[in-house]
Amino acid sequence: MQTNEIKLRTCPKCGRIYHGRPALSRADNETLICPDCGTREALESIGVGKDEQEQILETIHRCYGGSDGQ
Ligand SMILES: [Zn+2]
Repeated sequence: MQTNEIKLRTCPKCGRIYHGRPALSRADNETLICPDCGTREALESIGVGKDEQEQILETIHRCYGGSDGQ
């Protein structure tokens, strides 16, 4: 039986350690990257600039960063 422990992975794109569900890189369709980089790639693909990408990510983090922080 496998336990349901949280798996940590290192994102090859930004080098950060993350947990949870990885995203599939659009660049080659096989590299697993962190959800943030997945979001960045998705935004980039629709023409969102770097600065705006970071702003959007910050907003996402704020929305999900509920119970633990503060
Ligand atoms: Zn990443």
